Amino acid sequence: MTWHNWAGTASADPARRYWPRSTEEIADAVKDAAASGLVVRALGGGHSFTPAAATSGVALDLSGWTGIVAADLASGLITARSGTTIRELNRALDSLGLAMPNLGDIDAQTISGAISTGTHGTGAGLGGIATQVSALELVLADGSVVSCSATERPDLFNAARVSVGALGVISTVTLQCVPAFTLAAHEAPMHVDQVLERFDEFAAGNDHFEFYWFPYGTNALLKQNNRTVAVGDRPAPGTAAGGGVIPGPMPAWRRFLEYEVMENAAFGALCRTGRAMPGLIKPLNRLASATLSTRRYSAPSHEVFVTPRRVRFVESEYAVPRESVHEVLAQLRAGVPRLTHPVMFPVEIRVAAADDIWLSTAYGRDSAYVAIHQYVGLPYQEYFRLFESIAISVGGRPHWGKMHTRDAAYLATAYPRFDDFLRLRDETDPDRRFANPYTEQVFGP
Ligand SMILES: Cc1cc2nc3c(=O)[nH]c(=O)nc-3n(C[C@H](O)[C@H](O)[C@H](O)COP(=O)(O)OP(=O)(O)OC[C@H]3O[C@@H](n4cnc5c(N)ncnc54)[C@H](O)[C@@H]3O)c2cc1C
Repeated sequence: MTWHNWAGTASADPARRYWPRSTEEIADAVKDAAASGLVVRALGGGHSFTPAAATSGVALDLSGWTGIVAADLASGLITARSGTTIRELNRALDSLGLAMPNLGDIDAQTISGAISTGTHGTGAGLGGIATQVSALELVLADGSVVSCSATERPDLFNAARVSVGALGVISTVTLQCVPAFTLAAHEAPMHVDQVLERFDEFAAGNDHFEFYWFPYGTNALLKQNNRTVAVGDRPAPGTAAGGGVIPGPMPAWRRFLEYEVMENAAFGALCRTGRAMPGLIKPLNRLASATLSTRRYSAPSHEVFVTPRRVRFVESEYAVPRESVHEVLAQLRAGVPRLTHPVMFPVEIRVAAADDIWLSTAYGRDSAYVAIHQYVGLPYQEYFRLFESIAISVGGRPHWGKMHTRDAAYLATAYPRFDDFLRLRDETDPDRRFANPYTEQVFGP
C-alpha cells in the first residue's frame, strides 16, 4: 500500500509494513529488516512536508503503540508510547491536570514524529517540543533497547531528541509537563511595519507571540497568548498574570464561525478561486489582510495553541538568529512582488529560546522562525527558492520537516555539533539501517 504525507509532497511504497504493539515487537521488526538487508523508517502522522518518513524498506506503523504508560503527578513527568498523537496526549494530560508548556499549531503529529523534526510553537522564553523531553527509550540498529536522559548516555540524549529518525526507533518518550493552565488569547490586526518596529517588545512581553502577514497586504494578524496565572503567581480573581482582565471563553458557535468558517471554509474558497484565476490572487490576498478581525478569549492552553488546518498547503520554514528577522522580512517584502507566480498564503513568524539539543533549529541561539506557505496546486518553487536564498544569507537552519534543498555540507556549517551527531550515527548505525534518501541528503551517505 502506497504511503503519502499530508501535503502530498512525498510518497513511498514500503517493501514491508509492521504494526508493532510493544518495544519487543519494534526490536524484532528492526532485527527482521537487518536479516533481510532492508532499511527501516518509523512512520509518524505523515505531517512532514519533507520525505523524512518515506522508505522503500520496512515501514514501522506505530499507530497501535499509543497511550501513557507512567505518570508522576508530583513531578509532572509522564511517559508516553511513541505513536501517541499530540491530540491524544493533550486529552490524557487534561484528565491528569497536566499540560505541555508549549505546542505547535496543530495536534495531529505523533509525539515522536514531532520531536524528531524539531517541531516548535512560539515563545521567546520557551524551546521547541523536544526541550520538554526528559528521557527516551530507543531501539537501536542492532535491535538493542537503550534509555537515555541528561544523566544516562547524555550524548545519545542530546543527539536523539531531534534526529530525523536516523539514530533508532523511539519506543517511549518521557516528557516534563506542567500543571494545566489557561491562556488568554488576544488576536488583532496591526500594520506590519508597526509589528516589526515593536517586535522585541512583543516577543519579550508575551508568553507566546506570533504574527501572520499576507504578502500583498499591509496588515499582519498579531497573536498574543498569555497565561492567566504566571508560574508561581496568584493574581487577583478575574485578572491575568500581567494585570489585564481575563476574557471569557469563546462561545462554541463563534469558535466554529471564526476557525471553521473564516479560517478554513471561507479561506479555502478564496484559495480555490485564486488557483482557478491567478490574476485574482493579489486582490484576494489584500482582501484577506484587510478583513482580519480582533478576538479575545480564554481557554485551556492546548485549545488556544492548536487550530484546525483543513486547507492544504506546502511549506518551508527557517530558524534565523532572532535579530535577523528584520533583514529576512525586508528582503522577502522586496522580492515577493517581483515573483512570476503570486502567493496565496500568509507568512508566519514565531520565536523560541536558545536550547542545547545538537540538531535543534534553535541550538545555541535565540531564534525567530519564518514560515512561508503556498496553496497546494499553485506554483511554489520560485517563491521557496527566493526565501531559501534569503534565509541562508543570515545563517538560517531549515525545519527538518519542511521543504528545503539544504544538504549535509551546508548543515555542517549551520550546526556546531553536526560532526558529533554524525560520529554518534556512525557508532550506533554503521550499516545505515535507518537511512532513506532524505537522511542521505541532510546527513550524507
Ligand atoms: C498542517 C501542518 C501544521 C504544522 N504545524 C507545525 C508547527 O506549528 N510547528 C512546527 O514546528 N511544525 C509544524 N508542522 C510540521 C510537523 O510538526 C513536523 O513535520 C512533524 O515531524 C510531523 O510529525 P509526524 O508525527 O507527522 O511525523 P512524520 O512526518 O510522519 O515523521 C517525521 C520524522 O520522524 C520520524 N519518526 C516518527 N516516529 C518515530 C519514532 N518512533 N522513532 C524515530 N523516528 C520517528 C520519521 O521517520 C520522520 O523522519 C506542521 C505540519 C503540518 C502539515
